Amino acid sequence: MNHPHLDALVIGAGFGGIYQLYSLLKLGFNVKLIEKAPGVGGVWFSNNYPGATTDTASYLYRYTWDKDDLQSYLWANNYLSRDEVVAYLDHVVDKHNLRQHIRFSTEMVAADWSEAAGKWHVKTDQSEVIATTYLVMATGVFTRPNVPKIPGMGTFRGPVMHTASWDNNVDIVGKRVGVIGCGSSGIQVSDAIAPIIAELHCFIRHPPYSIPLRFRPVPSSERSDINSRYNEIHAAQLLSKLALDIGEPDTKTLSVTEEERQQTFESLWRDGNSFRFKYGGFGDLASNAEANEEACKFLRAKIRSIVKDPAKADTLTPNDLFTRRPPCDQGWYEMFNQDNVFAVDIQETPITAIEENGIRTSDGKIHELDIIVLATGFQSVRDNGINGRGGVSIGDYWAEEIKTFLGIFIHSFPNLFMVNGPQGPFSIAPVTIETEVDFISEMLSYLRNTDRVDAVVECTLDKETEWVTLCGRSADTETLENTVSSELTSTNIAGAKRSVIFFYNGLKQYRNHLQEVKDMEYRFLLS
Ligand code: NAP
Repeated sequence: MNHPHLDALVIGAGFGGIYQLYSLLKLGFNVKLIEKAPGVGGVWFSNNYPGATTDTASYLYRYTWDKDDLQSYLWANNYLSRDEVVAYLDHVVDKHNLRQHIRFSTEMVAADWSEAAGKWHVKTDQSEVIATTYLVMATGVFTRPNVPKIPGMGTFRGPVMHTASWDNNVDIVGKRVGVIGCGSSGIQVSDAIAPIIAELHCFIRHPPYSIPLRFRPVPSSERSDINSRYNEIHAAQLLSKLALDIGEPDTKTLSVTEEERQQTFESLWRDGNSFRFKYGGFGDLASNAEANEEACKFLRAKIRSIVKDPAKADTLTPNDLFTRRPPCDQGWYEMFNQDNVFAVDIQETPITAIEENGIRTSDGKIHELDIIVLATGFQSVRDNGINGRGGVSIGDYWAEEIKTFLGIFIHSFPNLFMVNGPQGPFSIAPVTIETEVDFISEMLSYLRNTDRVDAVVECTLDKETEWVTLCGRSADTETLENTVSSELTSTNIAGAKRSVIFFYNGLKQYRNHLQEVKDMEYRFLLS
């Protein structure tokens, strides 16, 4: 890197990092971006498993700030494949000449706040130290794959691949494949590979409620209609909770007759998409256990009506509430009607070991396999080598619970900002990211324009505590998350402590909180 002394260093070339780089360059800051992968995409770059697809509509899964691009960059189907997302971000980077400011295959290994210099010293795996006034972590929450500790993992004679590090050189055609985990990644990869492999063994601990995605081509008339309404759609997103462009009705599930309720559920199932199902029909499915149970009854009946084998249906049917982050599928339940697709209930018969020939379960059975896929998700990142005031690491600071102000700032970590980090709003990624990046960029611009470039930006402990409390309260009132272990509470990993990962009151309220801080001229942030 030619400029080791920077105004800002951005880490990560996903949606957040690319927009942050663009915004700060536009404001005239001396800024660079480093990315550990050899290409753009962030989480989409590494998650290149077969079937990787967005479950946010294509027309919303893009930046809103490039109005020309909104009109002209084509998308063919209602959802984007992983390759299309990466191609789109490549296009943006090239169109706006950002590549010259990005260094790929460069990983941040540590960052230390220097009190004396008032800067971050960022060490990379290229044996260099970059000094920067501001450090923007645009690495998201899904960076470290969760690889379960299963005895004998190293003894398996075939490939073991996590969905976040898929090896395209491995030939899966005609093979016996075991997939551990059935969140969005496990379901997507299973749906995609089932037609071409010899046997699929899905190892299922908590079966999710999965809703059909209803993937389809989008006719040009529909695209023209969306193009003509983009400004209107975007304005409505900013005033909504989830920014999903689904209306967010507030009808109570139990306020309608049984017949009306079933009709609504049926039409939501037919339209597809789990978020639409959860939030697009009734206003209280996500937060009221009684209402939620009505959806569960409908979905359990759906699963049993599709899956013909009662034993498989038992394994695939959840008993708990419809509250984890819901996956979308392209034939997940139908697939189990094939004789060569097996559902292994690992609540009933847990995995005891991985052996040379496959996976052994507690009933003594060996499930013979050629390839094992770990679709076991991610650890929420608490320790990432960042050391703030007094050398305290984020890992230590968050040992008991994750604590932020607005999901952007952490007390004791001056001039450090997170984009799409924990405790930001629970709403779809691109527009959430734009909201956070715009806030950061405006704040830095304000400091420069008011001759306060030397001011240190750090949230007060009081504000941080207040925000964590607000996030906790939002989880209590807006969700049923506390009833299950989930990545949404950071309890998907054995032994992990419960933390609130989102601000669940939604984007509109989140933006109001940001506006308040702006209106007070960033008072709680400047020393
Ligand atoms: P995930 O949602 O955390 O699911 C992990 C799965 O692995 C769960 O079924 C979990 O079971 C299972 N698992 C974890 N450890 C296990 C163990 N030791 N033994 C057996 N099973 C184990 O992970 P993901 O599917 O990779 O998704 C990660 C995030 O990315 C989610 O938010 C997801 O929705 C998102 N994502 C989105 C898309 C998209 O369409 N936009 C695509 C992929 C991923 P338990 O439930 O029992 O813990």
